[in-house]
Amino acid sequence: MLIKRPPSYHKLFFFRGMLLGMTVTLKHFILNLLRIRKIPTIQYPEKKRERSARFKGKHILTKKLDGSIRCTSCLLCQTACPARCIKITPSEHPDPKVEKFPISFQIDLLRCVMCGYCEEACPVDAIRMGQEYEWADYSESSFIMDKEYLSNRPALQGGVISKVNS
Ligand code: SF4
Ligand code: SF4
Repeated sequence: MLIKRPPSYHKLFFFRGMLLGMTVTLKHFILNLLRIRKIPTIQYPEKKRERSARFKGKHILTKKLDGSIRCTSCLLCQTACPARCIKITPSEHPDPKVEKFPISFQIDLLRCVMCGYCEEACPVDAIRMGQEYEWADYSESSFIMDKEYLSNRPALQGGVISKVNS
């Protein structure tokens, strides 16, 4: 059975809203074409935005003055990490003056949420979050950062010295 419905006005309002929206878009498009130099667009990757000193990028394991890594394997960062992406294997150090050190230290960047809790939890400034943020890659395994990579990758130019060296 054919039911006759009253004329629907809400469709007219819908088209009116759509036209208004497109007018705003067109207005900005033309204005931006006329003042192209003032558009706040950065021509990435040729130009890069300056980042705050507090930026939380790829992790760094800092070193002592003698070049060994500062981490004492206390596991505080691993415990604080909400994403459970830090895996540390502690061991006795051959030097009796050093209590412990990590045989292995891994961070899974694909699970990391860049919260910075690891950096906050560390009592000896052994882990920091640096300024690097470009880490696109094709294989999952390249997102697992090991001890060597965390402390000695080329971008660190020889490594970063911890503020706590006692
Ligand atoms: S930044 Fe946060 S999620 Fe990433 S390793 Fe540190 S504590 Fe874990
Ligand atoms: S990085 Fe710092 S918090 Fe994490 S295990 Fe090493 S010393 Fe402890």
